[in-house]
Amino acid sequence: MIELRTPTQIEQMKPAGRFVADVLTALKDKADVGVNLLELDELAHQMIKDRGAESCYIDYHPSFGAMPFGKVLCTSVNDAVLHGLPFDYRLQDGDLLSVDFAASVDGWVSDSALSVVVGTPRQEDLDLIETTTRALEAGIGAAQAGNRIGDISAAIAAVAHGKGLTVNTQFGGHGVGRTMHGDPHVPNDGRAGRGFKLQPGLVIAIEPWFLHTTDEIYTDADGWTLRSADGSRGAHMEHTIAITAGGPLVLTARD
Ligand code: MG
Repeated sequence: MIELRTPTQIEQMKPAGRFVADVLTALKDKADVGVNLLELDELAHQMIKDRGAESCYIDYHPSFGAMPFGKVLCTSVNDAVLHGLPFDYRLQDGDLLSVDFAASVDGWVSDSALSVVVGTPRQEDLDLIETTTRALEAGIGAAQAGNRIGDISAAIAAVAHGKGLTVNTQFGGHGVGRTMHGDPHVPNDGRAGRGFKLQPGLVIAIEPWFLHTTDEIYTDADGWTLRSADGSRGAHMEHTIAITAGGPLVLTARD
């Protein structure tokens, strides 16, 4: 069921967006060669405690997960692109790291993700991050009242296809509210003019993610981490946005 939020509720959702943005900024600042993925998870966990927020991940156990997630953060490195379960791994020079974080503040969820290269970047990884960022911006730009979900999907895919990337439509954006995942699904490819008609009060996460040379993924032996079928690297960018009469409002915007 698709739920719409009142302007008052959207105001109430802002602190969660602000908090999630602040955590991602802190994680981006901390991510460096030699830093352990578990330290990133601990940093986010401490910020959750300090803020009195609630993790959306730690008890998360959907049908596709082998067991409750147990961490507060997804850390996906190199050929891992989504749902990366933090483990005892120190980041190495040139690693492409994606962090995905969602938390609830005052009973409202926000969800956001970013990719970054630690140490010496490969140009192709910087290009992939830039393309993914532009796809997110295009998707947000299409999130206008009167448009349809398919317009967001088509805008995202157009950026990817312009770079010769293929797009996986199994995992994509979603409604956000009291819980992390709600309707509607917001695929990263689709037909313009199709799907649910966007209207003020709809709050969704838009989250393009692309791999260099495939759109196929498989689940790692840890039961969670999604890796590319061909070993190529991935990037992931996500914001939670509210559609308002005045246009899309990015709740998880970073400074
Ligand atoms: Mg997310």
